[in-house]
Order: sequence, then structure tokens, then C-alpha cells
Amino acid sequence: MTAHTLGQTLVPPDVAGPGPAADLNERVRALVKAELAPLTDAIDKGQTYPADVLRKLGGLGAWSSHLPVDGTADLRAAIAAMSAIGECCGATAFMAWCQDTLAWYVANTDNATLKAYLLDRVASGATLGGTGLSNPMKAFFGIETLKLKGRRVEGGYMVRGTLPWVSNLGPDHLFGTIFELEDKPGETVMFVADCAAKGIVLQACPQFLAMDGTGTFAVHFRDAFIPDALVLAAPAAPFVKKIRAGFILLQAGMAFGVIRDSIAIMKSVRSSLGHINAYLAPEHQPEAFEAMLAEEEAAAMALAATPYDPTDAYWEAVVAARLRLGEAAVAAAHAAMLHCGARGYLKGHRAQRRLREAYFVAIVTPATKQLKKMLSDHKKEAAGQ
Ligand SMILES: Cc1cc2nc3c(=O)[nH]c(=O)nc-3n(C[C@H](O)[C@H](O)[C@H](O)COP(=O)(O)OP(=O)(O)OC[C@H]3O[C@@H](n4cnc5c(N)ncnc54)[C@H](O)[C@@H]3O)c2cc1C
Repeated sequence: MTAHTLGQTLVPPDVAGPGPAADLNERVRALVKAELAPLTDAIDKGQTYPADVLRKLGGLGAWSSHLPVDGTADLRAAIAAMSAIGECCGATAFMAWCQDTLAWYVANTDNATLKAYLLDRVASGATLGGTGLSNPMKAFFGIETLKLKGRRVEGGYMVRGTLPWVSNLGPDHLFGTIFELEDKPGETVMFVADCAAKGIVLQACPQFLAMDGTGTFAVHFRDAFIPDALVLAAPAAPFVKKIRAGFILLQAGMAFGVIRDSIAIMKSVRSSLGHINAYLAPEHQPEAFEAMLAEEEAAAMALAATPYDPTDAYWEAVVAARLRLGEAAVAAAHAAMLHCGARGYLKGHRAQRRLREAYFVAIVTPATKQLKKMLSDHKKEAAGQ
């Protein structure tokens, strides 16, 4: 049985049938239907940040299935759970990614103090949070410079600078990010920032096109003290190399959710508009997206089973898969709009929400343009240029 033939459940193929991953997926779906679906519009409008739902999802195990055990990790059940969330609400799927990613950082650190202090809290959803790695990810791939600077002081570092957007935050939330040492340019430290700490200030962002209920803030570090106990890795670069495939692959859950619901939207108008929608291009038909989704799920799930694979070929495949998923999410949501016509253009219809959410999949770091640069750089390196 493949991930595709499992249809709505999308559980990893080798744990299909009764088992922990299938159970997790069923429990996530039930909670999404009962507690997330009624909030989706308010989340989209930025009126609600669904902290309770995120905590309950954590209680079900949604933020812990991907964490390493004895040096191996499998992201497939986490991606499947995120996809189930994303079928209902793209913004919450993004918050799921934020939480999963924070847990991924904490679980992979060699800092035993930090792990003992935070892993259970983050993996269970008792403590919520996210990741401020967009700027560092762009910096590591030569797109911009690091925005946070730090200097060594007794027992830790003092950090200054601003990150323009970090999501899944609130006054008692945490997130992982990176600063550069002021006196050693190029040397970086990855750490967990505590939003409640002195010198860390959250500032509300202007309204977005979507994702407004995601607890997204600009974060100012004004000589914030970061104790050694909250350092994930110093230097950061080898740690980033270890966690980067997981960071990127987990985003597949956001894309699958949007694509799957876009297909459902196209099919839902078939009885009333099928006679005219049949004139849309073959590649804009739901069956074409189903076939594409099956291929992309199989490809992403195969990669997600081995997130520590250190080979260049694996990394290139991860980047290429992520690029395709951003483009596929936008294409599917675009086709759903064409199928729906005027009814999808109504503000209350979810087709237009799906389109706005899909653009986010394509622009969240690593954005389409960054992924293309990464692939181009990788090819040049391989060719020795
Ligand atoms: C709703 C939302 C939530 C996000 N959540 C997170 C998160 O949780 N963690 C995280 O690390 N990143 C987050 N980001 C950032 C996101 O991942 C991307 O980095 C961002 O969308 C831009 O990526 P890009 O590669 O297209 O860069 P570009 O848009 O090309 O931008 C390059 C640089 O231009 C500057 N810039 C552009 N527009 C602005 C602006 N309005 N204000 C300030 N500076 C600007 C910034 O320095 C930016 O890095 C979020 C963005 C949005 C819109």
C-alpha cells in the first residue's frame, strides 16, 4: 500500500493499518474537525490565535512523532499530521510546522541541559513556539547578512538586532534562531530565545494577505542576555547542516494540505459546473492534481524517512522536492479558483483563502527564488565552477 492509496489519511506506508502513526492521524483529524474547523475563518482574519488547539494537538503527539530516537528520525507521521491540519487551515498547518521545527531543534542539540529543560515541554505542546531561521537561512546561502549580532559575556551572550517576522509567538513562547559574533564575523551561534526574557520585545506586524492568526511578530533583541543554557549549537553551521533537511521537508505538510483541499474544492463544483469546467486545460483538472499529489507524496515521504542523510544527492533532492511543492500548491489553488468562478471569488469562500495560503507556501523561507538559487549554486559546485 502506498501513501497515496491511503487517500485522506496519508500515513506512512510502512505503518499503515493499526499503529501509532495511523492512530495519530485519526486523532488529529478528529480534533481538527471538532475544534479547528470552527475557528478557521477567525484565524484567517487574524481574530484568533488557536493556542488551545495547538496545545491539544501536542497532547495527542502531533509535535513529537518526528523526534530522533537512538540517532534516527522519521518525519513522515509529522508531515501526515500537518497535512491533515492543512486540509482544514493553512495558517494552522504553518503553526504546526513552527512547533515541529522548534521541537526538532531542541531534540537535536548536544546541550543536555537545554534538552532536559525544554524537550518534553515543547514536544508535548505545553510550551509553544517557532523558528526565526529565515534570515539565517538566507544568510547561509549568500542572499543577505545576519540580522542578529552577539558578544560573549560571562555565562552567555548579549544579543542585538531585529528579526522582521517570527510566527507562533506570544508572551510566553520560545523560538530558535541564530546570531553572528560581533568580533568574529562569520562565526555563528544558534539558540532558543525566550519571548518573556528581558530585552526581547515583540512588535505586532502590519496586516498580511493571509496567516494573520499565526502569532507573527517582529522581534527586537535589545541587549538581550542569552544564557549558555539556551545555546543550541556554537558554532551553528554544523548544527544547521544536520537539521536543515528536516526544516525543509516538514514544510511538505503545509503544501499537501492546501493541494488536497484544492482538489476537493474542484470536485465539489463538478455537479453544477462540470459541463463548463471540462473546457479548462487537462493540467487544471482535479485528476491531474491527484496524480501529481500521489507522485509528490511518494517522493517527499521517501525523503522524510531519512532526514539525516548527509549526501549531496539527498540534499539536492530535498531542495528540488520543496521547490516543486511550493509551485504545486499555487497551481492547485489557482485551478480551484478557476473551477469555482464567481462563488470562489466571494470573501467567505475557502477557494480564495486557499490561494492566499498557497502563496505563503511558495514564499516562506526557503522561498521559490531561494530554492532556485540553491539548486543553481549546487549544480555549479558539482560542475566545479
Ligand atoms: C506571515 C509571515 C510569517 C512569517 N513567519 C516567519 C517565521 O516564523 N520565521 C522566520 O524566520 N521567518 C518568517 N517569515 C519570513 C519568511 O519566511 C520569508 O523570509 C519572507 O516571506 C521573505 O522571504 P524572501 O526570501 O521572499 O525574501 P524577500 O521578500 O525578497 O526579502 C528579503 C529581505 O528584505 C527585507 N524585507 C522585505 N520586506 C520587508 C518588510 N516588510 N519588513 C521588513 N523587512 C523586509 C528583509 O530583510 C527580508 O529578509 C514570515 C513571513 C510572513 C509573510
